[in-house]
Parts: sequence; C-alpha cells; structure tokens
Amino acid sequence: MSEKDLTHLKDLLLRQRREILVRLQGLESDWQALSERDIEREEEAQKADLASLFDQLEERERQELEDIELALTKMVNVTYGICEKCRKQLSLERLEVLPATRFCRKCEAEMEEKQKKPAILP
Ligand SMILES: [Zn+2]
Repeated sequence: MSEKDLTHLKDLLLRQRREILVRLQGLESDWQALSERDIEREEEAQKADLASLFDQLEERERQELEDIELALTKMVNVTYGICEKCRKQLSLERLEVLPATRFCRKCEAEMEEKQKKPAILP
C-alpha cells in the first residue's frame, strides 16, 4: 500500500472517529434531557424501550470506535490492511468503504453466517 493511500485511509478513520464521538455526545445530552423531564406513569414503558435502544446504539458505536482505534494502531505497527483471520492483503476498495474493517470480505461473510446477529430495530 502506498504512503498516499495510507494517509488517505487514516484521514477517513480519524473523521469517522470524530463523527462517532459527536454522535455519542449528542445521544448523551438527549438522554439527559429525557431523564430530567417529568415522565408520566404510562410513559414508563416507552422510557424503558428508549433506554434499551440507547444501550444498543451505544454499544455498537463503542464497538466501532474500538475498531477504529485498532486500525490506527495497526497503521503504526504496519499490520494495517491485512485480514486478521486469513492474513491476506485487503483490497483498497474495501478499505475505502470500511477503513476500520479487521477482516476480508470472505472471512467476514463466514463469521456472520456463524453468529447471525439480530438486527437492531429502529
Ligand atoms: Zn480473510
């Protein structure tokens, strides 16, 4: 991978990280506003739903952040852009779309097939 590609991908990662941090902060202030409001008894169920959605969202975003941090570390260690499972070089096209990805398309598809995560509903 060329120095130019690497710099470009690093920029993408840093931008993604910033966006997630901004989103997390936004979520936290929304949640605070909601908690501070005087919520009626019949709204309790809805509040609980929101709380669980909030947790799921946060968990996903935190996972994304972790992957981004990991990718940035790999850049320093020169192991960036290599599939963690089969050790193949990832394509630039894939990194362009998913700069924090840890696996090649094939390995990721295999893993998803195995652990079929339930989708998060809106
Ligand atoms: Zn692989």
